Amino acid sequence: MKKPGKNIPELKGRSLLLHVCCGPCAAGCVERLLAHYDRVGLYYSNSNICTADEFEKRLCYVRELADHFDLPLSVDSYDHASWLSVTEEYREEPEGGLRCGRCFGYSLGRAAAAADRLGYESFATSLTVSPRKSSDLVFAAGREYSGFTEWNFKKDSGYLRGLELAKGWNFYRQDFCGCEFSLRSREKSGANGQR
Ligand code: SF4
Repeated sequence: MKKPGKNIPELKGRSLLLHVCCGPCAAGCVERLLAHYDRVGLYYSNSNICTADEFEKRLCYVRELADHFDLPLSVDSYDHASWLSVTEEYREEPEGGLRCGRCFGYSLGRAAAAADRLGYESFATSLTVSPRKSSDLVFAAGREYSGFTEWNFKKDSGYLRGLELAKGWNFYRQDFCGCEFSLRSREKSGANGQR
């Protein structure tokens, strides 16, 4: 297991529920958290994903991740219609804009409720590991909920460590963020590469 880096936020208790966006992003985060908490659990809540098939595909590797680390995993129900109703007004926003702020708030609100229900003192999210996501935007959404802990997992090469683990375990690595808007912009640009 890798040594934890220096970038440690103020911890809120000894237990933490990690909101997990996908296996590759969460892999390095989990490794880091285990060095700091007595109890870590995983929470997969991703109604932002545009199809149920893609939701299930990513979930499959999150289950593998939970098995690798022997951690409990809770899975939120998939309700893309509800997510769309919350982000609707910003559908034309580019990736990284206001729609994404709403999107983060949607999932983090659900993670906060799950942490409370499941008896975790705090929660964080693997969303901050991606170099394509502003940690400040994620933090702004998370600060709306008590117990949110500002783990900035992209620090200390967190993204590369996740990739390393994901490659070793042969995890599926998607090439778009998740919603239909991100899929369309990926198709338009023709770009690909793991997200
Ligand atoms: S691009 Fe990603 S973060 Fe932004 S709204 Fe879509 S799924 Fe959410």
